[in-house]
Amino acid sequence: MTKVQLRPETLALHAAYRRDDTTRSVAVPIYQTVAYQFDDTAHAASLFGLEKFGNIYTRIMNPTSSVLEERITALEGGVGALAVSSGQSATAFSIQNLARNGDNIVSSSDLYGGIWNLFANGMKDMGIEVRFVDSSDPENFRRASDDRTRAFYGETLANPKLYPFPIREISTISDDLGIPLIIDNTAAPILCRPFDLGAHIIVYSLTKYIGGHGNSIGGLIVDSGRFDWSKHGSRFPTLNSPDANYHGTIFSEAVKPLGPIAYILRARVVLLRDFGSALSPMNSFLLLQGLETLPLRMSAICDNAQVIAEFLLKHKAVSRVVYPGLFEGTERDHARAVLSGGFGGLIGFELKGGVEAGKCFIDSLRLVYHVANIGDVRTLAIHPASTTQSQLSAEDRVASGASDGYVRLSVGIEHREDLLADIGQALDACCDG
Ligand code: PLP
Repeated sequence: MTKVQLRPETLALHAAYRRDDTTRSVAVPIYQTVAYQFDDTAHAASLFGLEKFGNIYTRIMNPTSSVLEERITALEGGVGALAVSSGQSATAFSIQNLARNGDNIVSSSDLYGGIWNLFANGMKDMGIEVRFVDSSDPENFRRASDDRTRAFYGETLANPKLYPFPIREISTISDDLGIPLIIDNTAAPILCRPFDLGAHIIVYSLTKYIGGHGNSIGGLIVDSGRFDWSKHGSRFPTLNSPDANYHGTIFSEAVKPLGPIAYILRARVVLLRDFGSALSPMNSFLLLQGLETLPLRMSAICDNAQVIAEFLLKHKAVSRVVYPGLFEGTERDHARAVLSGGFGGLIGFELKGGVEAGKCFIDSLRLVYHVANIGDVRTLAIHPASTTQSQLSAEDRVASGASDGYVRLSVGIEHREDLLADIGQALDACCDG
């Protein structure tokens, strides 16, 4: 029988789980357990020796989290995934799995602030240099790399420019140099399929659109299985030389009978085991609940966001709107090359009245929440100049994109007329003229 390629709407509901064989439960059970009974000592030894896959201890794997991992693997078209306790942790592991003291990565400078800080300070403290470049010229990645470069990194739709990362162009340079491309696709699940565009690894903050309901922090790394680690042996010693962290295992050799899973397996059995950023089974369950409706939500969010962006553009209190669905000319073609089915739920806009207008707008909202989050079913707003970026000097703040009157919206799935009414009344309340 021909294998049917299921579509995202179906995979989000059915991939990786049908029923629990013991109870016949249709909802994915929450396996709230720490440990798993081995059949006998030979069974235990085969699991520890990586000869067989099986559950050992929930810090390293858990059946509820496995469904989440396998379902997102199916959606992305990868070979394996690792769920971890936050998006920050997913990115940290994605780099630490390849880079050690003295190595470097090249990253787009347009990043979520928490990841920017991890790269500029946390990684630096570990001896890993992050070379920030402007991704609007893909060749910057080639120019900044050398023989100690272990990865390229970018976000699909980074705030505040919301300019889609040129995944295809930079993955071509990646393939040329033998350096994997890691994409943080947090802001555009379903809309962007990074592996189809040539990326090698995807990281997610599951906290945002995938969970979608603002109730659980989580992160995930997906491996495309497309990067040939052995071919570039000297560049990737963590995968190609005996690993003292795992009794001398050479991961690229050990996985040969199992498939191209050296990267994602090492992330689990070395990094997750040692650093312990495990996702709790309860959070995996909640994130799976969100995942089931992700395609529907992304579609509704994009439709609402387009209408709101167009409304903002026409409002007299607003001087500028940043939304990929409003891009024109080559910028629009570029956005279309990376995104399909919509332009996402994030909108940035500038109020003519500066800082005071920004604060006034936020304080006047009645329906839209004022929170430091994105990707919720509810519409969320923040004024970076008075919150997330308020500690920066005026110069650094503007350089980070948080100009005085800049407001970020993360559009949800409320009825759009209700959203337009709330945003409209808040703009009117703060509009001078
Ligand atoms: N990546 C992006 C694009 C984000 O927006 C965030 C959080 O806002 C993160 C990563 C970090 O995720 P978490 O908060 O789950 O650690």
